[in-house]
Amino acid sequence: MNLAQFARRRYTPGVTAIEPMPHLSRSLGGATLYIKRDDQLGLTAGGNKTRKLEFLVADALAQGADTLITVGAVQSNHCRLTLAAAVREGLKCRLVLEQRVPGSYDPAASGNNFLFDLLGVEAVTVIEAGTDLQAAMEAVAADLAAQGRKGYIIPGGGSNALGALGYVACAEEILQQSFEMGVAFDRIVVASGSAGTHAGIVAGIIGNSAGIPVTGVNVRRPRPEQEGNVHKLACAVADLAGVVPEVPRDAIVCLDDWVGPGYSIPTPEMVEAVRLFASHEGVLLDPVYTGKAAAGLIGLVRSGAIGADETVLFIHTGGAPALYAYQGILSGAASA
Ligand SMILES: *Cc1c(COP(=O)(O)O)cnc(C)c1O
Repeated sequence: MNLAQFARRRYTPGVTAIEPMPHLSRSLGGATLYIKRDDQLGLTAGGNKTRKLEFLVADALAQGADTLITVGAVQSNHCRLTLAAAVREGLKCRLVLEQRVPGSYDPAASGNNFLFDLLGVEAVTVIEAGTDLQAAMEAVAADLAAQGRKGYIIPGGGSNALGALGYVACAEEILQQSFEMGVAFDRIVVASGSAGTHAGIVAGIIGNSAGIPVTGVNVRRPRPEQEGNVHKLACAVADLAGVVPEVPRDAIVCLDDWVGPGYSIPTPEMVEAVRLFASHEGVLLDPVYTGKAAAGLIGLVRSGAIGADETVLFIHTGGAPALYAYQGILSGAASA
């Protein structure tokens, strides 16, 4: 692979840290756990979308766009980071927010929603779940075109092949760090949502013949549907990046045991995971993605599905601003 052939903006100086989690590892009494701190990526409050936006925004600028258009849930980290990238680049940004939980949009809500306002979003369009997202964004682009402006549409989560390159790059970064640290990982565990992160990591691992299994933990969809989505995108990004071996279908594993009642809806396992990471490692997870992915990690270690002899890297994909919109559910007083 030669990722330097793709235009890229840089939003993070250097690499994100890989840290051991000794207290959590000891407390669970199983595998040796490490964490990749992608919550410390650049742009406002960090998180995985920053890596995808480095490639997507470079493309938007090459096409002469003046406005970024994207879509996400009402507490979308992706929308916050797309807006932050627009601010950094001197572009405008318009957001389409999908009410995945009916009635969930509250213009006065805290968390990411508050940051949309603070970062100066140009316009927000709220749509119901099930609306054609692409059509909704194209309507925004048409509105801009009528004013002589040029929008650039970024799909939900920045998850197309170009965006997923960000996580092919992350896989290479992990392998380099692993080599320098002298720590060989037996497994990588990551949240799987719009699929770009999971797909990019798998393509990067295969492209480097690294042979590290990747376990995805779903936050929204049933396992067969999500594995199909991730496989399709992994093949597309592998093709774009020039990965030679095909991505086998069985390289894609997306467990759905920790989704609970649905996307963004809290579960007791999520609350426990958020509290354990905070109190044992001083790491802030988020309630929608990393809290559920970490619940999966913890569950797999406790059940022995992840062996006590394994060294595991958990990818922290960010999202902590959403914590503040869930304080009532997460605080010790509430969960006691
Ligand atoms: C978007 C997001 C994910 C999921 O990543 P995808 O590439 O959409 O699968 C995980 N964690 C956080 C915090 C996110 O915002």
